[in-house]
Amino acid sequence: MTDPFWVIEPADRRPRLVHVNATATGGGVAELLSGLVPAQRARGANAAWAVTGGNAEFFAVTKYLYRLLHGQVPAAPLDDPEYLTVYRAVLAEQAPWFLAEIGPGDVAVLHDTQTIGLAPALRAAGARVVWHCHVGAEIPPERGPGAVWRALAGELAAVDAVVTTLPQFAPPGIPDERRFVAAPAIDPDAPKNRELAPGEGAALLAEAGLTADRTSPRATVVQDAPLPPDARVVVQVSRWDPLKDMVGVVRCFTGLPPDVHLVLAGTDPSEVSDDPEGRAVLAEVTRVRAELPPAERARVHLVSLSMRPPEWSALVVNALQRRADVVVQKSLEEGFGLTVTEAMVKGRAVVASAVGGIRLQIADGENGVLVDPADTAGVRRALARLLDDPALRRRLGERARRSATARYTMRRLADDYARVAAPDAA
Ligand code: UDP
Repeated sequence: MTDPFWVIEPADRRPRLVHVNATATGGGVAELLSGLVPAQRARGANAAWAVTGGNAEFFAVTKYLYRLLHGQVPAAPLDDPEYLTVYRAVLAEQAPWFLAEIGPGDVAVLHDTQTIGLAPALRAAGARVVWHCHVGAEIPPERGPGAVWRALAGELAAVDAVVTTLPQFAPPGIPDERRFVAAPAIDPDAPKNRELAPGEGAALLAEAGLTADRTSPRATVVQDAPLPPDARVVVQVSRWDPLKDMVGVVRCFTGLPPDVHLVLAGTDPSEVSDDPEGRAVLAEVTRVRAELPPAERARVHLVSLSMRPPEWSALVVNALQRRADVVVQKSLEEGFGLTVTEAMVKGRAVVASAVGGIRLQIADGENGVLVDPADTAGVRRALARLLDDPALRRRLGERARRSATARYTMRRLADDYARVAAPDAA
């Protein structure tokens, strides 16, 4: 098992505001914290970021809880009172590391189910404990969330405040004054989002091996031939997770005009420690691609990006999102899709599923297009309509840029957090 470690150390003083999550790279929470912690420091908070360790068994449990909160798996395993034993034992082993760093007067912000198991120990040590749950689906409790809340009742009882993207994602029974809603944010100046110099994006995509016939030590590309310079491009950037439905994107893509290419890009699965399904999903997408008729297969490109160093892969994602004529996010459920906002701030036309937090991000027909992810033909029609209408793409993209830039700023999120972390002082 890996040990906990600091991604961003606190200044050596108290009080501290310590964010705790399960991975330093890969996924939206890591992305968010890399911008939020500096923004909180700029506001004067002694903010820091620590990552828990874990092992395969631990992450299998947390991934199951993640899928259950989205109603994707049966709840029966949680009827076994022993089901969370390994989960709790792994966090109990790490608790001393956290208790040495976080104590009375400090605030611990535990992100997602991977870390809520630390709540009882931190609460007992006198810290204010905030749980930020980034996931959620608008489904009845009996489809999954209810079982999670029952199984984690002891942990939830040790939490002082709960933060979610939508109010309905919070566990039931939390009094109003302890519930907070905060939409995520992005950093427009970060490598992921900053403007690229002329030629920089093209150079990055060539370096990754997508547009040039070369291999990169930092990217694994599955393609028949490099992406042609004049192709119209549809892009989805995601972790390789069943909920992102990369296979479904391939199915929507077939039948689009022959100059349209699809790029599916995701983090190298071996580098996302808390996501055990990545390899299997990437293998499945690779298989589905291989089974396409040759002419269609040649237009589907899979890119698996190493996060080492993180700045390079962020720049490649940036370049890909900017290269896209249309960005798609066909998630089956989504607490909030940072990738959607990242595409919007770049003025892209986005086609995204009308689920969860994405419905906050996009007003259909106004600054993007919302689709039903179960309706393959409907998603294909939405893509085709946008690909064929550059003026519509520009109009939606421009409104997307304006709305996302105004709403999803790190400053706003740091302000939201000031209320959560110290409600009496706000
Ligand atoms: N991401 C990345 N490289 C990849 C795939 C994803 O940097 O190859 C980033 C993506 O740009 C976004 C985050 O990972 O910042 C994913 O966040 P999102 O909220 O869309 O989904 P999550 O992974 O949290 O479910």
